[in-house]
Amino acid sequence: MASYEYNESNQRVLFGEDSLSKLPSELSKLGCTKPLILTTPSKASYVDDVAKLLTGQIHVAGSFTRVTMHTPKEVTEEALEYSTSVDADCFVSIGGGSAVGLGKALFVRTGLPHICIPTTYAGSEMTPIVGQTENRVKVTHVDRKAIPAVVIYDVKLTLTLPTNISATSGLNAMAHAVEALYASDANPITSTFAIKGIQTLSTSLPKIMQNPKDIAARSDALLGAWLCGKCLAGASVSLHHKLCHVLGGTFNLPHAETHAIILPHALAYLAPNIPEVMKVLAENIPDSDGNAVNGLNKLLSKLGITYSLKDLGMKEKGIDLAVETLLQKPFWSPRTIEKDTIRELLKRAWDGKPAQ
Ligand code: NAD
Repeated sequence: MASYEYNESNQRVLFGEDSLSKLPSELSKLGCTKPLILTTPSKASYVDDVAKLLTGQIHVAGSFTRVTMHTPKEVTEEALEYSTSVDADCFVSIGGGSAVGLGKALFVRTGLPHICIPTTYAGSEMTPIVGQTENRVKVTHVDRKAIPAVVIYDVKLTLTLPTNISATSGLNAMAHAVEALYASDANPITSTFAIKGIQTLSTSLPKIMQNPKDIAARSDALLGAWLCGKCLAGASVSLHHKLCHVLGGTFNLPHAETHAIILPHALAYLAPNIPEVMKVLAENIPDSDGNAVNGLNKLLSKLGITYSLKDLGMKEKGIDLAVETLLQKPFWSPRTIEKDTIRELLKRAWDGKPAQ
């Protein structure tokens, strides 16, 4: 009989159309009356959307709309100072993984409750992983208390997510699930979430490309993102996330796009050592024809992800540095990390050739 460990959180999740309207009652339940709203500059309009909902005792204490990707320490400190100056008693992050990341960083520093309203598919709202970038180096640590107290998934907020970001953040989510299937601590709970998350995202994302306002497809994708986020929270990562971390950290490549490009290549590298996982993936990724790497290659092309690491701005000489950096911190992998083969993998991803 299998024995395994699984960490559950006591997070509350609300899912649906117009579920943002439940924010006031969720604030009341937490005893909060002065939320600080956190979002990215391009979605500053969310602050008004939230303010309009709040009545009576509860009002917006302030808004911080300079959220930046990868949680730079100086931005967190600026937001913290502002939060103290307006006497906020909780944080409401609304937006993608960047806004959620700032909410987590502020929670770690203050202990104030954090309500999350995710509007991409990155999945950070489900995880205890807290990131911070300082002097161009991104480090992460795990703090189970940093899992946001409440998550409100409002499908309608995702209707405006551009198709390119929908595609890349959806693949970022799928990567969490794919890695959970072969993780050293894989377990039946995360594997169940992973299979459903992969199935749901790989069928809904192409529909979103055809019609970004397809509420049923958006709803499936958001559920998929939730499930995939649970995978990242419940199982360890391996080659795919380690490579993306190196590429993002060393060359400042954009997070979701990098995940989208690398996923089929990392899987192709590990494939010989994970036959059972490859079988499950091929059964759940449409058009795989018995080979999940083919299925992922086709999915990327359906989602318009035809660009390469070179197109993201990485220089060819960076490939060797990326390999060296990856090898500096050994990690568990189903297949031994072979320098030359990883170099070939990265060269294909840099050239924009399909994974094989
Ligand atoms: P993001 O949060 O930076 O958002 C990308 C862009 O999409 C932004 O310009 C944002 O304003 C815009 N946007 C968001 N929602 C929108 C909507 N509904 N309509 C229109 N525009 C919208 O990108 P992301 O990919 O969601 O998150 C990436 C960040 O999340 C990275 O810093 C990454 O490290 C982090 N992350 C952390 C974890 C974790 O567990 N800690 C997991 C995944 C990602």
